[in-house]
Amino acid sequence: MTFTTRFAPSPTGPLHLGHAYSALLAHDMARAHNGRFLLRIDDLDQSRARPQWENQIYDDLTWLGITWDGPVRRQSDHFGAYRKAIKDLAAKGGIYPCRCKRRDIEAAVSAPQEGGQQFGADGLIYPGTCRDRRWEDRRDTDALRFNIRQLPEDLDLTFQEFGPAHRGLHHVTPAALQTRVGDPIVARPNMAASYHFSVVLDDAASEVTHVVRGEDLFEATYIQRLFQHQLAQPTPVYHHHRLIRDADGKRLAKRDDARAISKYRQDGATPADIRNLIGLPPPG
Ligand code: GLU
Repeated sequence: MTFTTRFAPSPTGPLHLGHAYSALLAHDMARAHNGRFLLRIDDLDQSRARPQWENQIYDDLTWLGITWDGPVRRQSDHFGAYRKAIKDLAAKGGIYPCRCKRRDIEAAVSAPQEGGQQFGADGLIYPGTCRDRRWEDRRDTDALRFNIRQLPEDLDLTFQEFGPAHRGLHHVTPAALQTRVGDPIVARPNMAASYHFSVVLDDAASEVTHVVRGEDLFEATYIQRLFQHQLAQPTPVYHHHRLIRDADGKRLAKRDDARAISKYRQDGATPADIRNLIGLPPPG
């Protein structure tokens, strides 16, 4: 298979230095391997996605010297496929509707007898309150979750990580999922699918072989590996890279407009200045 990386920003704000690092790293890797670099617009959350930000993404990436191969994939063009995959999986059992609000989960996990880790890759580790509800009884206002209790005990899924912080082979077992994740969300109310569910289908459809993204998504790989298995999709290798931090050591967020690439552009920076700022060598 052709070495294939991708950059998958959400069009919900300006790209900042952290995005530039991610995009350039994935792009340079693909070019060094004579591979493909793909661009995907992760506009799953239609309440926050804006065409203005999507256009800014194209503009900033082009200015940085990034070219992408083939057409851009937009998640909003694939909602039907996500819904169908959820339905097919539900038919095999294991997906249940969950009506718990955040405060219900907080109240349940703060009960004294619970103990253990409370936060995982998908927020608070879900205590399983709705686990016995039936798929047929779902309502539009429910989320959908995958019941990890029904996995065979000896299941041992692996993924290979090449990033600096977690290099090596990782094992995704029912026990690891229970302590790191809980029952992951497959879809939130009024959304076609959860982020973890949709990216598994997207990466597979685009034949992505190397997922290059920030270290903040390392734990999420456990959920995605599980969904790859349930959906019989291939597993790429992963490279979770360091995060670009501000002067106070905090990671950059969408609201850090001061670090927006467009702001650096306005202030007269060149693409070479940006590479320099984030510690990447000139393109070669
Ligand atoms: N869309 C995600 C984000 O903007 C990244 C998805 C991914 O790289 O897997 O954080």
